[in-house]
Amino acid sequence: MNKIRVGQGFDVHQLEEGRDFWLGGVKLPATKGAVGHSDADVLIHAICDALLGAANLRDIGFHFSNKDDRWKGKDSKYFLKEVTKMLHDKGWTVGNVDCTVVLEAPKVNPHIDAMKKALAPLMNITEEDISIKATTNETMGYVGREEGVNASAVALIFRKD
Ligand SMILES: [Zn+2]
Repeated sequence: MNKIRVGQGFDVHQLEEGRDFWLGGVKLPATKGAVGHSDADVLIHAICDALLGAANLRDIGFHFSNKDDRWKGKDSKYFLKEVTKMLHDKGWTVGNVDCTVVLEAPKVNPHIDAMKKALAPLMNITEEDISIKATTNETMGYVGREEGVNASAVALIFRKD
């Protein structure tokens, strides 16, 4: 088996007025928030899928079904912690993650340091090992109309044996 593997993840959520907007483990000041079964943290979900993909452990919906009441309104930080545990159980350690959030508003950049701080301990890595980039969709499509947000991530994992 390879000692280094890479995985990618992608997720989309609708945005709705009056909802809390959780992104990267941080609650953003916003009038709209993401809609979902859990807290709908699109960035954490993309990272979970990148890590699970790297370890070939299916995807977040397989482990934390949106039909399961246990995960209703759940803090997605729990999912990332559990995914990291699943990887550790298989002998994998997280190397680094690199992510992109596509969102029209609010601005993500002022919150990136807080997101890195929230996410690093969940994966047992340092803030230096997490890159979060943000862009808009140039007012086009569902992101441009502020109907939704998407995030993608790549993750590298490694093992020593
Ligand atoms: Zn999601």
